[in-house]
Amino acid sequence: MKSKPERKWFTLPCYWTVIGFALILSGGPLKAQDTGTSGKALTKVSTALSARVQSAIEADGPRLIEIYKDIHANPELAFMEQRTAGIVAKELSALGYEVKTGIGKTGVVGILRNGLGPVVMYRADMDAVPVEEGTGLPYASKVKTTREDGIDVPVAHLCGHDAHTTWMLGVAKAMAGAKDAWSGTLIMVGQPAEEVVRGAKAMVDDGLYTKLGVPVPNFLIAQHTAPVPVGTIISAGGPRMAGSDKLNVIFRGIGGQGGMPHLAKDLVIMAAAAIMEYQVIVARAIDPAESAVLTVGAIQAGTAHNIIPDRALLKIGLRSFKPQVRDLMFKGIRNINESIARAYNLPDNLMPIMEIVPGSVPPLVNDTPRSRG
Ligand SMILES: [Zn+2]
Repeated sequence: MKSKPERKWFTLPCYWTVIGFALILSGGPLKAQDTGTSGKALTKVSTALSARVQSAIEADGPRLIEIYKDIHANPELAFMEQRTAGIVAKELSALGYEVKTGIGKTGVVGILRNGLGPVVMYRADMDAVPVEEGTGLPYASKVKTTREDGIDVPVAHLCGHDAHTTWMLGVAKAMAGAKDAWSGTLIMVGQPAEEVVRGAKAMVDDGLYTKLGVPVPNFLIAQHTAPVPVGTIISAGGPRMAGSDKLNVIFRGIGGQGGMPHLAKDLVIMAAAAIMEYQVIVARAIDPAESAVLTVGAIQAGTAHNIIPDRALLKIGLRSFKPQVRDLMFKGIRNINESIARAYNLPDNLMPIMEIVPGSVPPLVNDTPRSRG
């Protein structure tokens, strides 16, 4: 990343995540607006609830650790989270939440209606990644599964979604136990398939807010683990995570024998030139005050040492915070592809192709006042 936007870092005890969440339920802007309650009064109420939630979470620690270890040892890939979803549904049901399952294939929702007030949604992603775990932990994953494409892969919770799901179950219990101290509607969401960036949309497309009648939230809270010291929480408003696009660039040309390169159009050379030129987009076309990432994550071309292939595929990952920066990268890639193809005398009908891979996501922009909770 060339440059980063302003970030504010807070180091707080881990239960602050839960406390901040409680503050929203008890003192969110809807309630303040509806009742005319002063900010001072809200802070007082919120602090009392925060302390109560804090002690409830601490007391629940041993149970949550066992849930975490169980989910960690039994990871499931995107849209296969049957077992994990079953744990979420069972726990939320036992706490008195109105539970709906099988949303967007394996998604789970638990609703706790507790009078007038804001609707707050808390989302935890449940899926794991197709990577072999090498931690050596006693509860390390030994799971292998067959992916949607038929390939057998190891599975592990190396992105932390086991922790996210456990946190949600801890919050669910603490808030259910403190119902007399807050009002509003709390919605817990166990979301499938975050890793493939399709699970949230699958839940909405499956009628989350329509057919299933789940209330549309005033506030949506989600968290992710990060490589920071234990007990550290980072929360800040504004743009926090970049939007992401995946792009395929296909160079098409004329294959040939390695001993007669003048009769071919060497796509490997063109692709290599393009990869180097792409970096100039970020280095020179984009305002240094903005952020952008352009990664060529895969190059696929050819099969033999002495054959010039007739096709080269580049798999590119793009990240940006603003639409204009995103546009600059797309235009820059297109211009470079075509200029290189023309420099090597490729005909019009063999200009490189660009394909956006489904699963693009916009940037995450946090609400600033709520992020200070
Ligand atoms: Zn993740």
